[in-house]
Amino acid sequence: MIRMTIGIVCKEALMGRITEYYHATSLEDAFAKAQQLRPAAAYVGGGVELILRRNPEITTLIDLSRCGLDYITASREGIEIGSQTTLTTVSRNADIKKYAGGSLAWWTGRIAQNNLRDMITVGGVIGRNQPWNDVVPHLVALGAQVRLFDGAERIMPLAGYIEAKQPGVIIKGILLPAGNAGSSGFLWRFTRTLQDISTLHFSALVSSDGKFMTAANLVFAGRPGHAALYPRLSEGLVGKSLSHETFARVAEMAPDVVEVGSDLRATGEFRRELVRAAILNLEEHMTGVAQ
Ligand SMILES: Cc1cc2nc3c(=O)[nH]c(=O)nc-3n(C[C@H](O)[C@H](O)[C@H](O)COP(=O)(O)OP(=O)(O)OC[C@H]3O[C@@H](n4cnc5c(N)ncnc54)[C@H](O)[C@@H]3O)c2cc1C
Repeated sequence: MIRMTIGIVCKEALMGRITEYYHATSLEDAFAKAQQLRPAAAYVGGGVELILRRNPEITTLIDLSRCGLDYITASREGIEIGSQTTLTTVSRNADIKKYAGGSLAWWTGRIAQNNLRDMITVGGVIGRNQPWNDVVPHLVALGAQVRLFDGAERIMPLAGYIEAKQPGVIIKGILLPAGNAGSSGFLWRFTRTLQDISTLHFSALVSSDGKFMTAANLVFAGRPGHAALYPRLSEGLVGKSLSHETFARVAEMAPDVVEVGSDLRATGEFRRELVRAAILNLEEHMTGVAQ
């Protein structure tokens, strides 16, 4: 009992005590509150990460659940997903199941575990973006744009946003561009169990005319570094035939292009082998032939 109390006290001291839980009623209200309290305030998505770990300076949580951010809409521009939408909702949406072969719907219904997926939000995964996160690199591969609110709305590529995050800015939602809907989305994560986090994550979006590849986005994460796009590997595929020779060439060069390293989970050498395996798995996905 004493040990448990000490544990709780230590954790509170480490994370800081929350003294206010503020229910924002609009984006304007949430942003104004955050500006007033910076850096002592944080927006709440599903709260999964904020409960486990948060900056000790944070004393106020700003709840966004009344700001109208729980939506999925399809339009001529593409599919827009509000930042308060949970992974479970994303995984069950009929339009997302059809988008780029349904890779996003499939994986948002499988990573972590079911009761966590009911809580984890799109805004929360982007807001935290752990290096081993699976959703962010997949969205980057799909060419997602992020819609932000900082007093006014603006939109930018998610790939650019995660490079230079802007504290205090509200993630309103993401847009999956209509132009990529017919391409093929692919995700491969190397884990010891299905519920484990990725030792290496690989996501791709490939367009083809059936014989030749016409566009490709290749993203690695959990290297153990953050999600990064690899245009040099994409160049190895674009304009080339959908053949074993093409993928074998890219698999050969990929371990020298993707920056991997060692951590408690795996050595850099092991990750280099995983990089090669990731490309061969993409080949199998694109050609239907296992190597
Ligand atoms: C046991 C466990 C297993 C997991 N396994 C996986 C896995 O396999 N794959 C995977 O990808 N992830 C996994 N996750 C990680 C999970 O995706 C992250 O913890 C995610 O950040 C939680 O989302 P949330 O909505 O609960 O975030 P929150 O805890 O609510 O927020 C996270 C951060 O984002 C900020 N934020 C939230 N919403 C917004 C917004 N709209 N605008 C601006 N900032 C915002 C918050 O202020 C905070 O800094 C796992 C987590 C746990 C606990």
